[in-house]
Amino acid sequence: MSAAESVRLANAIRRTIVDESRRANVGHIGSALSIADLIAVIFHDRIRLDGGGDRDRLILSKGHAALALYAALHDRGRLEPGAIETYCANGSLLGVHPEIGLEGIDFATGSLGQGLPVAVGAALAAKRQKSDRKVYVVMSDAELNEGSVWEAVMFAGHHKLDNLVVLIDLNGQQALDFTADVIDLGDVASKLASFGWSADDVPGHDHAALNAALDADTGDRPRAIVAHTTFGHGVSFMESEIKWHYLPLDDSAYAAAVRELEAAGEVP
Ligand SMILES: [Mg+2]
Repeated sequence: MSAAESVRLANAIRRTIVDESRRANVGHIGSALSIADLIAVIFHDRIRLDGGGDRDRLILSKGHAALALYAALHDRGRLEPGAIETYCANGSLLGVHPEIGLEGIDFATGSLGQGLPVAVGAALAAKRQKSDRKVYVVMSDAELNEGSVWEAVMFAGHHKLDNLVVLIDLNGQQALDFTADVIDLGDVASKLASFGWSADDVPGHDHAALNAALDADTGDRPRAIVAHTTFGHGVSFMESEIKWHYLPLDDSAYAAAVRELEAAGEVP
């Protein structure tokens, strides 16, 4: 597939996020938009979804952005027809956070700081089983506040888990404030490197830059992409606005968001 297809997928993910969050009248829109490009790059031509036990794994540690993942699974034909429209409906497996039982969900997340520790275990298991499957993790920057994350970082460096690929959504925001004002994260890439990781700072909405970083040789080190993103990317009135962590869209905001996404979508 082409680079244009990767961008098309990201635009499709953004449109599904806006449409289905409006339909369900739920928030977490800005958090999902923040990772649309990261998810698109993974799903464009990287993650191996087939292959039984040897297929790649993906853990969305920032589970509140599940709609971005559902949107990619929908685009790739991995959901039942019409399933995306059941987002947050009674009885649907497409909950506001990912749940086991839905194809494409490898771990139920939402309790922050747990995705990377589980992924580290999955990566170690793959090594021991001599499988070449990779384990992808998409996590938030504020999850770096959690001690469990740093235990996992230390463990992965020690065990040289070069089959582990972590994309950190460094949007500088968390639920109710900016990360610099809650707990300043400092130089994340340097901290990870000090634990034996390959860690690169990358513009998080630039598919070419993301792909270049993902293709770089890490030797035998686990890989981290410190993706500098904008919360709410693609919908200008949401960008870098704390309130859009929780707010749902009303009719006029929905219409404005759709106008912007449609205008952007005309450019491949
Ligand atoms: Mg954040």
